[in-house]
Amino acid sequence: MRDRGRILVRGIVQGVGFRPFVYARAVALGIRGTVKNTGSQVEINAWGDRFDSFLADVSRGPLLSRIDSVEILPLQDSPPEGFHILTSSAGTLSGMIPPDVAICTECVDDIFQKGSRYNNYFATSCVNCGPRYSIIESLPYDRERTSMASFPMCPECGREYTDSGCRRHHAQTIACPICGPRLSLMDTEGMTVETTDPVRETASLLDAGSIVAIRGIGGFHIACTEGRASELKARLSRTEQPFAVMVREEVLGRMALVSDTDWAILRSEVHPIAVLVKRDPTAHPGISNLHTIGCMLPYAPLHQLLFSHLAAPLLIMTSANMPGYPMITEIDTALAKLRGQVDYYLTHNRRILNRCDDSVVRDGIIIRLSRGIAPKRSRIDLGPSCILGVGPELNSNITIYKDGFAITSPHVGHVRNPPTLSYLEETAERIRGWLGAQYEVIAHDLHPSFLSTGYARALAEETDAELVPVQHHRAHVAATTLEPCIGITIDGVGYGDDGRVWGGEIFAGQVPHLDRIGHLEEVPMPGGDLATRFPERMLYGILPDERILEILMDRGWTDIQCGVLARQVERGVNVAWTSSTGRVLDAVAALLGICRERTYDGEPAMRLEAAAYGGTPGEWPLEFLERPGAEVFSTRSIVRRALGEYLEAAGSGGPAEAKAAADIAASAQDSLARGLAHIAIHGARDHGLRLIALSGGVAYNAAIRDTIRREVEQEGHTLIVNREYPLGDGCISYGQCVWAGAVKRGKE
Ligand SMILES: [Zn+2]
Ligand SMILES: [Zn+2]
Repeated sequence: MRDRGRILVRGIVQGVGFRPFVYARAVALGIRGTVKNTGSQVEINAWGDRFDSFLADVSRGPLLSRIDSVEILPLQDSPPEGFHILTSSAGTLSGMIPPDVAICTECVDDIFQKGSRYNNYFATSCVNCGPRYSIIESLPYDRERTSMASFPMCPECGREYTDSGCRRHHAQTIACPICGPRLSLMDTEGMTVETTDPVRETASLLDAGSIVAIRGIGGFHIACTEGRASELKARLSRTEQPFAVMVREEVLGRMALVSDTDWAILRSEVHPIAVLVKRDPTAHPGISNLHTIGCMLPYAPLHQLLFSHLAAPLLIMTSANMPGYPMITEIDTALAKLRGQVDYYLTHNRRILNRCDDSVVRDGIIIRLSRGIAPKRSRIDLGPSCILGVGPELNSNITIYKDGFAITSPHVGHVRNPPTLSYLEETAERIRGWLGAQYEVIAHDLHPSFLSTGYARALAEETDAELVPVQHHRAHVAATTLEPCIGITIDGVGYGDDGRVWGGEIFAGQVPHLDRIGHLEEVPMPGGDLATRFPERMLYGILPDERILEILMDRGWTDIQCGVLARQVERGVNVAWTSSTGRVLDAVAALLGICRERTYDGEPAMRLEAAAYGGTPGEWPLEFLERPGAEVFSTRSIVRRALGEYLEAAGSGGPAEAKAAADIAASAQDSLARGLAHIAIHGARDHGLRLIALSGGVAYNAAIRDTIRREVEQEGHTLIVNREYPLGDGCISYGQCVWAGAVKRGKE
């Protein structure tokens, strides 16, 4: 029986109500002592007969905490009277940066409770919920180091803050209508619209058809009702890309198929956008022309209040940004950049210090790692060196490894313009500062001319860090597992060892030694990137067949255009070579006329998946080509087969033709998946491996993923996909760190 001790708790212990939780347990168990935040850990000095029970409670932690370790040290001093929460001090910062937390059910009750101080208040929060990362200036997480510092607590808030019996005891974001942030509704000139209730007014404006920019937790959304979808598309010059929607809980189940896992994710403290299959695949065409729809539940008190006044069942809520640029966080920027796009602005005066987009999840797999999940912290031993991974070009973020933890930033975006590069640099610098990190290794993509590669080089020069280039698809495998495995990476584009465009790759070995043992057939992309934008070019690149030119002519291509394309492919002039999986899917989408011009990343492949949803795959034969050291799957044979079936069905008209297109789409996906699985199974047999890791953006395609899984499991192998990081390029910066750590270790 111990009666005293110094307890050190490490893990996610800030911004989760840890100190008030400890306080409440201490008071309940008659423990005397103190609790203090030191940045990366909570330090508790405790005396009392029931020390062991207290220790057990503390080791469990409050709801949102994640505890890595609990250490008990001897304690000689004598106890103070009672139990006290001490002021935070900055200790060693091992990377505890709390993510933003969606409103909790008790706070929802508070804002709808007549007579409550929080009734109708848009910035209500408690120890269990509210903004965190988005408002942090520096660590440890305490009000004075957040953007809440400009809102001194009123006496009532001060009373709750110090009341150990209250849910807002030591809630750093506590605020009320008297002392906290305020909302205002503005017109396009930035003039305040006079109203006693800006939220109610905004709801009526939305119901009446206005398009409103709404400042939320991590940035601005653009919101409107479903009826205004086409107007919004016209204003944003965005024709095809699906919008995300915020939906009332009772409406969501009627719109989409929501599994228990999906519900748990939708209602979790993250409240992400969940990509769900529509009940009727053709419903809500203005929002999404795919068979899926991205839905989220109201996650901030502001959203809850808005929906309480709104007549519409759902709102389109799309991030406010210029295409390819970071989300807008400041009202001045919003007024300048959204001119002509929105009719009103609903904004507040709590500064957003760190931008954070909505996270996106599909089938429990992360598509966009951001609000509520990031900064993401993973415990992993990559050795003693501090490492920065700067990410690739698309869907980038950064990861910093230090002292046994990898910290991944929220989604940054497509780092192919200076403002997004600056945002990447700021994000890295801010998190580096918080962690007190000093880079010894900087990992970057193999691509020599990515902006992120340039950033890595400049930073290495400045800091004397060692540069480690990491091949894109191997970084995908590294993000998935450090075990010996076969790695399948299927995506759109990544720079290969030979300078060609890779994207359908199979590796064998163990990080950092992965041999490329197979891939998709290398095919020409006529006109390079132009073939990505216009997939009909890709179609002819893969299958230079007269019949394809005839199809293109029927669709309005001129003789001259067809002639130029044919000569390009024949002579190999201005073509890039690729083994990309995405480009094959694009080509089939083009053949079927589903997508003739790509207007957003991944569009042709996503529309092909939607078309295939109602189809039945046929058993198409698979053709393989032997190349030195690698087995190659002939994608040309797949496209040839697809062409044959397409021509056969052409002219049958109506539902029969549509069914044939769905079957061709399903068969093409199925064949690709079986081809990849086949090479992986061969590789596993040849190398004596059981584990098969699957990554890359194409792996979000449920049909392809499920077919690969079925094929490899039939042969007794285990398929793993990463559920902690995105399968797309949002896992690359983490994979780069893992790879670089393994390289360093190999040299020691
Ligand atoms: Zn709460
Ligand atoms: Zn107050």
